[in-house]
Amino acid sequence: MKILVIGGGGREHALVWKLKQSSSVDRIFCAPGNAGTAEIAENIAVSATDLAQLLRFAKQNDVDLTVVGPDDPLAMGIVDLFTADKLRIFGPTKSAARLESSKIFAKELMRAQKVPTAQARMFSESKEALGYCDELKFPVVIKADGLALGKGVIIAPDVATAKSTVEAMMNEARFGDAGRRIVIEEFLRGTECSIHALVDGSDYRLLESARDHKRAFDGDEGPNTGGMGAFSPANNWSAELEDQFDQKIMRPLLRGLLEEGITFRGLLYPGLMISAAGARVLEFNCRFGDPETQVILPRMKSDLLPLLEATIDGEIDMCAIEWDERAAVTVVLASGGYPDKYETGKAISGVDEAEKFDDVHIFHAGTQRGNGEIVTSGGRVLAVTALGSNIAAARDRAYAAASRIQFEACHYRRDIALSAATS
Ligand code: AMP
Repeated sequence: MKILVIGGGGREHALVWKLKQSSSVDRIFCAPGNAGTAEIAENIAVSATDLAQLLRFAKQNDVDLTVVGPDDPLAMGIVDLFTADKLRIFGPTKSAARLESSKIFAKELMRAQKVPTAQARMFSESKEALGYCDELKFPVVIKADGLALGKGVIIAPDVATAKSTVEAMMNEARFGDAGRRIVIEEFLRGTECSIHALVDGSDYRLLESARDHKRAFDGDEGPNTGGMGAFSPANNWSAELEDQFDQKIMRPLLRGLLEEGITFRGLLYPGLMISAAGARVLEFNCRFGDPETQVILPRMKSDLLPLLEATIDGEIDMCAIEWDERAAVTVVLASGGYPDKYETGKAISGVDEAEKFDDVHIFHAGTQRGNGEIVTSGGRVLAVTALGSNIAAARDRAYAAASRIQFEACHYRRDIALSAATS
């Protein structure tokens, strides 16, 4: 089979790496890919959001299956476009992907199906939203309705911040169209957990649990990032929560989607807040998480390809997924300054050394090959994943491998999975 993976981050390198192990796969293309995917697949110079070019490439090259990494092409309707042309593609349709691309759509659906989530109000008029700010107890969470590169969620500690956030989103169009409508919701306390499910329309299979670290610096300080590291399994997940998740979240959600005439086929990953009261949904993601994928796939013993195909064909209930019992930890090496301004083009050394460790996988994100060497080309540069008999062992190995890699102004958190390793 010929596979096209869309995207160019660490998640896509992990997807390509895992699919490459399938005996049914002959060739893998990655658009646009990075220096890591170039070593095991064929990169093509097409952006992940250039849908017309991607469709042309898939047709001209007889691609058998396309796997979509990032959220933008899904929200733009790449799955509808490919399926209209009878091409197989893994991911939800544009209307199903609204679970991620419209926080208001997701909230209304959860409300209708009584899925546990933060109490919220939705606004399309700034005057009403500003008036509401005067009635609130703080902190509150203010969210732009649409996709905003992960920056559309603001935790407002007081009324002044809340009002300036409403102004910025609704009147100053700081997030463009994404902030035209907003959600103001209750601030939930607890610990977060990422749960990935392969959803085939009416049924689903869970992948192993994971947790990620969003803040830039140790001790959960600094600005939010795309994710500075992750570990699997999550230390706040249990069989009891899994049961609750099935009964109170997944089943009502799938029912609600079907009632709306929407068939969700693809990867659904709800971000959850776990507290004494149970699990509540913070948000829905309609694609594999990054960097969660870099810890989940190295633990998956089963072939990923038949699982993706069964999801598309509505047959995931026929599949069992086998897992490595060991734990995995990934540490993201970022460019100095990330998530704000950073420089690129820095030569990276030591990747070969780091790869020599047993059970270590280096997934590339913002890298490219230039003049025979690998250089940085993005904010998140590499994800160094290690497996170990437990979180502590995996963590030690990931950090030992990461210490072999150098590039100018490289920074990474030193406390990834620390609380799980010592608990
Ligand atoms: P979202 O994109 O909605 O997941 O928001 C990004 C991050 O903001 C989440 O991973 C949480 O850390 C935080 N967050 C979102 N909603 C809430 C909430 N209602 N209460 C507390 N934290 C939240």
